[in-house]
Amino acid sequence: MREARKRLEAGLRLTARRLHPEDTVIRIPRPDGTSLSIGGGRSFVFIAGPCAVESREQLLATARKVKEHGAVLLRGGAFKPRTSPYTFRGLGEEGLRLLAEARARTNLPVVSEVLDPALVPLAAKYVDVLQIGSRNMQNFPLLEAVGACQKPVLLKRGFAATVEEWLQAAEYILAAGNPSVILCERGIRGFDPVTRNVLDLAAVALVKQISHLPVIVDPSHATGDRQLVAPLARAARALGADGLMVEVHPEPESALSDGEQSLSIREFAELTAGLAMGDS
Ligand code: PEP
Ligand code: MN
Repeated sequence: MREARKRLEAGLRLTARRLHPEDTVIRIPRPDGTSLSIGGGRSFVFIAGPCAVESREQLLATARKVKEHGAVLLRGGAFKPRTSPYTFRGLGEEGLRLLAEARARTNLPVVSEVLDPALVPLAAKYVDVLQIGSRNMQNFPLLEAVGACQKPVLLKRGFAATVEEWLQAAEYILAAGNPSVILCERGIRGFDPVTRNVLDLAAVALVKQISHLPVIVDPSHATGDRQLVAPLARAARALGADGLMVEVHPEPESALSDGEQSLSIREFAELTAGLAMGDS
């Protein structure tokens, strides 16, 4: 075994498969009293929705359609961590309120990013899963704040974080008392802008071996290009990921953020149908 892997595994406690051989299955309640399960190898879940909640019409239309085509969890950013402060940064609490309305109308649980430890209780009032974005993977007060909360957490890998740093970030959440963490690989910085990031599929395979936590893949942020989403989604499925997070917009060309990587409803339908065809 490689030295780096030995060192990484030796440093893990609560996330380590060595100490917890069974896969963790995260259960997320739905309004109708049933629940969604992520992890455990029984199913491959689709998390889908717009990059950002832009309006009631946009969100409800997307929610209904992604559900029709196989999504089990609705995504939508209300607080957006944008590179430029002059771009659309989300609707804030109104976005969270719209997500809760979409959940009530579709029975789909919802996930949204939280940027600020002080706003964790507000987000937890509205959403079912709290997302920690790539830019905040090592925001330790934020990790502790979601760790103190009982809602499941979707922890994205920092785009310049090692696997060890990523799993140690998950350790922060578990050590703070929250066992429900879903890891999400979303690409790391490489040197070639043509594929935007490098989707680290080897890391997904490795983390599935050394940790019991569910691991999903986000091919949208990994590539920034909707034409690359389906092939990478197929690869993620083939190597044993627990699901996908994909950006979908009813009119990608007019999206207020990440339009180039957002699938149209038709493209999302083709993606899920294509992956279902591969089901045995
Ligand atoms: C997102 O999923 O909305 C997002 C901002 O992704 P990331 O943190 O991976 O860049
Ligand atoms: Mn986005």
